[in-house]
Amino acid sequence: MSETIHDSDVLILGGGMAGGLMAALLADTGLSVTVLDGAPVPAMPNQAPTARVSAITEASHWLLRHAGAWQYLPAERLGPYQSMHVWDGDGTGEVCFDAAGVGAEQLGWIIENDAIVAALHQAVAAQENVQWLPSVRVRALRRDNDLWQATAGGLLYRAPLLIGADGARSLAREAAGISAPVRDTGHRALVATVKSDKPHGGCARQRFMETGPLALLPLFGDGQQSSLVWSLWPEEARRLMALSHQEFERELTLASEECLGQLRVPGELKAFPIRELHASEYVREGLALIGDAAHVVHPLAGQGINLGMLDAGVLAEEIHQARSRGLNHFDDSLLRRYQRRRRAHNALMQRALGGFKMLFEQRSPEIRLVRNLGMRWVNRLSPVKHMLAREALGRGGDLPRRARP
Ligand SMILES: Cc1cc2nc3c(=O)[nH]c(=O)nc-3n(C[C@H](O)[C@H](O)[C@H](O)COP(=O)(O)OP(=O)(O)OC[C@H]3O[C@@H](n4cnc5c(N)ncnc54)[C@H](O)[C@@H]3O)c2cc1C
Repeated sequence: MSETIHDSDVLILGGGMAGGLMAALLADTGLSVTVLDGAPVPAMPNQAPTARVSAITEASHWLLRHAGAWQYLPAERLGPYQSMHVWDGDGTGEVCFDAAGVGAEQLGWIIENDAIVAALHQAVAAQENVQWLPSVRVRALRRDNDLWQATAGGLLYRAPLLIGADGARSLAREAAGISAPVRDTGHRALVATVKSDKPHGGCARQRFMETGPLALLPLFGDGQQSSLVWSLWPEEARRLMALSHQEFERELTLASEECLGQLRVPGELKAFPIRELHASEYVREGLALIGDAAHVVHPLAGQGINLGMLDAGVLAEEIHQARSRGLNHFDDSLLRRYQRRRRAHNALMQRALGGFKMLFEQRSPEIRLVRNLGMRWVNRLSPVKHMLAREALGRGGDLPRRARP
């Protein structure tokens, strides 16, 4: 029995935040783009906040804007934050910095992941050359006659360029034979929406403890709801998950040093394993990996999808430039340039986050002392704080043009 064939110029496997942005950034190339995703497109959230959120940098915001998606994000569901407060739970060291210090209105926005995907889907819905096919799970991928071929639901999808945006367990990565050893970070993340007695005041807070960091990210709304991301050793996470609701809220409030007063968890508490991986290569013949398919980092600095969005921005830029030079959109040289521009940057970020996590796990009193003195020193130095604020805004590194105004 012959399969029905669906040909396009670009096949994007995965319509999450990275794949969705990739499709939207390619819409103006005129290339035919097909996005395949095993899940349905999420509806734009309109009730209580959904548990999975991301801290979106200024750079990612510009990419979403240039991709035509930002306008579909309801303003009342954006949680802009103007400052950051990071402190050592085992000492007196702290670092505070704010957007005003670098002449910005905010350092970023806390936004629900589902809202971002729904907005990206709306942005491409009117583009004739982009087809986003939800609930299509790809079972097999192979390369034949210079085309990538994906089999799903009895159909065969073919394209000379396959973009793997299919997350940490990427089938695209596996089909291309690219290795990506998975490293367990020894942490689990407890995630929930929390209500606080005191207003968050647009400040993203993070308390570092030996067991892991506890982050309270300011959400949209009445100023008294935040997103909790509490990274912990697995046995500690299990202990907390087994507590009664009231006991958990009491422990959470204590662990936050009551920085927002009493904390309550009105909805569900979810736990996620935190693993890290980095693909040995991002590209192969006619293939590029972006987002979590290429790299998974610890969520402690809220960088994961921001790196993924920069991948999409750089790859789209390289495709545009190659075409303007008369090259194919799947030319090997453009794929290599994409890899050169992104892999080293992502590796550096992964190492920096690993080092940061290790520094706060140290029990030695000498290291704790140096760590606290170091934080106090940083907190007094405006140039260093400017640098931190610029990093939080996502202004560092080799940015694609569309990650700027
Ligand atoms: C607790 C926690 C907090 C975080 N906080 C932040 C933060 O504040 N800021 C930040 O930048 N990052 C954060 N991250 C990281 C961020 O969530 C991820 O980097 C991001 O979700 C990855 O997006 P993606 O599109 O690359 O992959 P995914 O979201 O995994 O999307 C992959 C898509 O591919 C589809 N798919 C997979 N396989 C197939 C197949 N075979 N066929 C069809 N479709 C397929 C899936 O259905 C899915 O839609 C956090 C992560 C965690 C765990």
